[in-house]
Amino acid sequence: MGRYWPTKLVLNIRWCISIFKIGIGYDTHRLVEGRALILGGVLVPFSKGLLGHSDADVLLHAIMDSILGALALGDIGKHFPDTDEEYKGASSINLLKSVAGQLKTRGCRVVNIDAVIIAQEPKLGPYMAQMKKNISEVLEIDEGCVNIKATTEEGLGFTGAGLGMSAQSVCLIQ
Ligand SMILES: [Zn+2]
Repeated sequence: MGRYWPTKLVLNIRWCISIFKIGIGYDTHRLVEGRALILGGVLVPFSKGLLGHSDADVLLHAIMDSILGALALGDIGKHFPDTDEEYKGASSINLLKSVAGQLKTRGCRVVNIDAVIIAQEPKLGPYMAQMKKNISEVLEIDEGCVNIKATTEEGLGFTGAGLGMSAQSVCLIQ
C-alpha cells in the first residue's frame, strides 16, 4: 500500500479505522524506612519509601501495566524483569518512556488514563499536578487525558496499616 500511497495518508487512514483497546493495571509495594517515596515520577516527602528493584513507583507501574495490557504485551515483569541488574534502581519514568516507545512503534497512542493510588499516608493532593504533568509529557498527550486519584482504605488492610501502597489504572488506547 505504501508503494502507491503517501505514507502520511496511509497513517491517517490507519488512524481513522483503528479500534479502541482497554487495559487494566494493578501494583503493590511494601513501605520501608530508608527509601525515597516516588509516585508518578515525583519525590514525595515522607518518612518511608516503597521497596522494589526499581524506584518502586507503584503508580507508574500500574499505569505501565494498563498500557501493556491494552497492547496485549503482557506486563512490566516481562519487559523489565526484577532479576535484571539493568533495572536495579531504575527510574520508572524511563521505563514509561520505553512503554511509550512500544505504543509508538505500533502506531497507537493513549486516549486516556484513570488511575488511583491507595495509601493511608501521606496526603498526595499537593503532588498530583506534577504527577499528571510527568505522565502526560512522556506519553505525549494532553494533561487532561490523565486522571490520578488517591484514596485511603479507612485504616483497613495492609495499606490502612501503613505497610504498603497499591495503585490501579485503566487505560484506553487507540
Ligand atoms: Zn511495581
